[in-house]
Amino acid sequence: MKWEGNRESDNVEDDRGGGGFGGGRSIGLGTIAIALVASYFFGISPTTVLSLLSGGPASQPQSQQAPGPNRAVRAEDRQTKFVRTVLADTEDVWTQIFRANGKTYAAPTLKLFSGTTQTACGTGQTASGPFYCPGDRKVYIDLSFYQLMQQRFHVSGEFAQAYVIAHEVGHHVQNMMGIMDKVNSAERQMSKAQKNAMSVRLELQADCLAGVWAFHANQARSILEQGDIEGALNAATAIGDDALQKQAQGYVVPDSFTHGTSAQRVRWFKQGISSGEVKSCNTFEVKTL
Ligand SMILES: [Zn+2]
Repeated sequence: MKWEGNRESDNVEDDRGGGGFGGGRSIGLGTIAIALVASYFFGISPTTVLSLLSGGPASQPQSQQAPGPNRAVRAEDRQTKFVRTVLADTEDVWTQIFRANGKTYAAPTLKLFSGTTQTACGTGQTASGPFYCPGDRKVYIDLSFYQLMQQRFHVSGEFAQAYVIAHEVGHHVQNMMGIMDKVNSAERQMSKAQKNAMSVRLELQADCLAGVWAFHANQARSILEQGDIEGALNAATAIGDDALQKQAQGYVVPDSFTHGTSAQRVRWFKQGISSGEVKSCNTFEVKTL
């Protein structure tokens, strides 16, 4: 993915506190939480995950690492720059799309955190993965999630990381369009299974909107490089509910799906990135997802 030198957003808040991942080898509570959730979801031992996350011997030989914290700090600077740039890109694309429809886009804030953070939706945790809180219109990301994606799911590539941000921004777009309110009020008289089915449609629409962003970002700034789309599709496959549940339990429970199967996530992301049209993302009106 080509992004360096593009505009960076000012709408990023840094709530990571001192130390944390910037210190290189330190393992914070957040790391432990993500290790626990990873071992829960993927059936691997927490200590394995911890050594993966802390760059221990399970991931690569220490001899390949430059000594001292400088390398880690520099990597983090680059990652923060990347997040700012991707967020700015979503701002530019969605501002344009809203304007073309006679509307004004109010950009969300993206909050970087480590461990836990206070949100209008309650306490946010590393373990919940990246999320969007409609109450304060913020996207929350603990960057250690990217390490997990890379080391545990072997999902690599910056475009796959950008897709994660674009998906959360997709939820903000749904909020701006009034779709979240509609879903919330419709859900009041629904059973748990019906609510989950509704949530799947909301999630798949966010995947499709992430695709719409990528289509326009690529048209305006030629961000895509060879292999990028495959990388994002791998991410969508790896984090589909069926894939997660299979790894956790050895079988799938369709009723408790809240994000959609891997195939569905891939399909809707493709739909968005090939059409570039918001109206092609109407997951609420199709019979078959
Ligand atoms: Zn989502």
